[in-house]
Amino acid sequence: MGIIMHIDILSLFPEFIEAFFNQSMIKRAIDNQLISMKVTDPRDFSHDKHRHVDDTIYGGGAGMLMKCGPIDEACHAVLPEKKENARIICLSPAGTPFTQDKAKELYKKYDHLVLICGHYEGIDHRIETEVADELISIGDYVLTGGELGAMVIADAVARMVPGVLGDAGSAVSDSFYEPLLEYPQYTKPAEYKGWKVPDILLSGHHEKIDAWRKKEALRRTLENRPDLLDKRILTDEEKKILQEIQEERDKT
Ligand code: SAM
Repeated sequence: MGIIMHIDILSLFPEFIEAFFNQSMIKRAIDNQLISMKVTDPRDFSHDKHRHVDDTIYGGGAGMLMKCGPIDEACHAVLPEKKENARIICLSPAGTPFTQDKAKELYKKYDHLVLICGHYEGIDHRIETEVADELISIGDYVLTGGELGAMVIADAVARMVPGVLGDAGSAVSDSFYEPLLEYPQYTKPAEYKGWKVPDILLSGHHEKIDAWRKKEALRRTLENRPDLLDKRILTDEEKKILQEIQEERDKT
């Protein structure tokens, strides 16, 4: 099996990104040639003797903006021509919010992602309109650079590639794979400082364990992210379980 997903990250801080490539499951997936990841520094495409990649902002305003040229050329170096199966994404707080559905979409539709990390006050708008296919935000807050966002996207997409996770089932049971949070999980010891693992999980009774997990996933979603339940088409069984949870909550 050849490489399933190639991810290029354009960043002024390659060491920051390389540390991510060299850890844990991502490293193993790269070593096993399931995915490939490469970082390219737009400074290598600066034609300025001081390797500048930023400049002042037209119309005034504080700070500096990343220039078009180095980013555009770096993009061309990693993707010489636009292809249907490649997607150029610019990290920006003004982008559409990143979600598990977006990660799934990127994995299913493309086999080459180019993630552009901004810095300083951001990037010349022409990169967003003329070079990028889309803008993605990782949340409603402003970071100093796009690197953390690029790693978030690369990680969420990479773990969908078959073989990247040790256990093929785990991506499917993760929170958000469906609009439902994952049930609580425990490992040994069964009791720590008097904090006990629920008895049912030690019973070996798989049907009862599955029922408990379903209920606790619904409970957790209702408590922490009720908005997700609005997106879910609830089965009659799930409606009944939610009713039970509501009654339990009313009693306490
Ligand atoms: N002036 C910009 C604004 O207000 O929208 C913020 C620029 S930010 C300091 C610098 C870079 O960090 C951005 O170009 C972007 O690449 C990245 N960044 C910051 N917050 C982000 C977020 N929530 N999601 C994705 N990227 C973000």
